Amino acid sequence: MIKGHPHCVCGIFFTLMVACLPSFSQPASPARPFSPPLDTPLRLTSNYGEIREAHFHSGTDMLADPGTKVYAVREGTISRIAVTLRGYGKALYVTHPDGYTSVYGHLSSFLPEVEKYVKDQQYRRRKYVIDLYPASGMFPVKQGQFIALTGNTGYSFGPHLHFEMRDSNGDIPLNVLTLGFPVADSRKPRITCLGIYSLDPQSRVADSAVKIIIPLKSSNGDRIILSDPVRVWGNIGFGIETYDYLDGRENICSPLLVSFQVDGKPVSSFRLDRISFEKTSQVNSHIDYAEKILSERKIQKLFLDPNNTLDIYSGVVNRGICRFTDSLLHPVAIRVEDAAGNQSFVHFSVISEPGEGTGEIPPDSNRMATFYFDSLNVFETGELKVVVPPNALFTSIEFTYKAGKASDTLYSSLHRIHDEGTPLKASYIISVRPDHLPPELRSKALLVQIGRDNKISSAGGDFDKGFITARVGSFGTYAVAVDTVPPEIIPVSFVNKGRFAKDQFLSFQIKDALSGINSFNGFIDGKWALFEYDLKNNLLFYRLDASMLSQNQEHTLELVIVDNRNNLSKFKGVFLY
Ligand SMILES: [Zn+2]
Repeated sequence: MIKGHPHCVCGIFFTLMVACLPSFSQPASPARPFSPPLDTPLRLTSNYGEIREAHFHSGTDMLADPGTKVYAVREGTISRIAVTLRGYGKALYVTHPDGYTSVYGHLSSFLPEVEKYVKDQQYRRRKYVIDLYPASGMFPVKQGQFIALTGNTGYSFGPHLHFEMRDSNGDIPLNVLTLGFPVADSRKPRITCLGIYSLDPQSRVADSAVKIIIPLKSSNGDRIILSDPVRVWGNIGFGIETYDYLDGRENICSPLLVSFQVDGKPVSSFRLDRISFEKTSQVNSHIDYAEKILSERKIQKLFLDPNNTLDIYSGVVNRGICRFTDSLLHPVAIRVEDAAGNQSFVHFSVISEPGEGTGEIPPDSNRMATFYFDSLNVFETGELKVVVPPNALFTSIEFTYKAGKASDTLYSSLHRIHDEGTPLKASYIISVRPDHLPPELRSKALLVQIGRDNKISSAGGDFDKGFITARVGSFGTYAVAVDTVPPEIIPVSFVNKGRFAKDQFLSFQIKDALSGINSFNGFIDGKWALFEYDLKNNLLFYRLDASMLSQNQEHTLELVIVDNRNNLSKFKGVFLY
């Protein structure tokens, strides 16, 4: 039984208040409506703010058959044209005079004059991957003008248009659904799960020193009320898993905002409509990252890690952390709202009671040191050095380490470096001393990460002063491996001495077992030719180009593929065109 004055200290007893008020410099609401980027009804499969791998989705995905025409949403000038292997693939950027930039990604091709300009630049630089910033006025466009065809290029797994609206000032992606594009949404968000967190070793939630996860049964348009209060003690945080749905579609979208109250007083809220590229990777601090790794649930936290600098939050009291040390019942309410103003709620109460097991948790035997988020942290054994720079962590951690025996195919022990469920704000450096690595294999050595499924993936790195050193972005298990295997080149449509016609493709599968493909070059009759590389499908292809090849002739083909450990493969052939 607790003596003394019962209280919840949210906003009352904590003086270290953090009020993260976003600084809005967004262009004024559009004075004139934008026109839609497609001339078919907009069918959204994903919207702004959806939680992705290390970023908030910065755009709005619209279903479109490959080759669907794309139109400029407002007059302006084409300010950037990019072709990348990952990310947006082929993308076009249009800067508008009123402070907005529109972005169109995963395209298959651009309007003819831009297509020609890009191809000329690719041949000049002998590179498929390119990033061009044409001078203002070089490619002016009118509102509603045809500018490109949709496709499935880059990191896209199904034909669609990735469409973004940005604030030209700072190049900050904005929430398209708040800018008046015609998308019907009369459905309320769904709340699918609640997380309640014990935030230090002295605190408890329902006797757990870590957290409890409460799945919620939710249909659209509800006000969920939990009847049984949850027992809590000490410093407690809350989190919510919530999704929005648009009319006529079952794709999971993101709500616009969530706000949270205890005892009828606001504690924190966040709004997903203006997230810079510089900060978007902090999504892993915004969510319960360990839970995502474990169960794929995306629980958005209503309390902030000390080094979370996302500016999506407002009115945050004591970083959203509530202290419960009385014996009272405290009502909690969480409200979710989508961009169309539809709202859903969850209501429940917590009761402060010390409960079973309150006290220190026994220390982890693998605990090595406290790593402070604002300091330089170094951990060293004879075999391993870990350097975590200041501000690479979101919060201070009790760093753990364990060595293990690796399989015979690896060239070091297994090093389990902390816990893959702890997110990082920036990369850190691992150096591993290889074991029985012959000197002639030093240039072929690299660090690999061993996943929970025992899958090995390259973490890069180079041999230097007796160690393999790499900069990596996640905690987990690492070891030294070597890659001596050149990439594979497998003809798909190509047949040696085969006959090909205009606009047909010469295509190949290219694959590398470990370190990944570093460069790909194709030569026809000894001259560099524009081979496109579809990374996700391991496909390399060349469209037979009437403007580059003379007809009714035999042509030689040579491919040169090099991996990241400098293993090289060549393919030679002859074809008729
Ligand atoms: Zn997208």
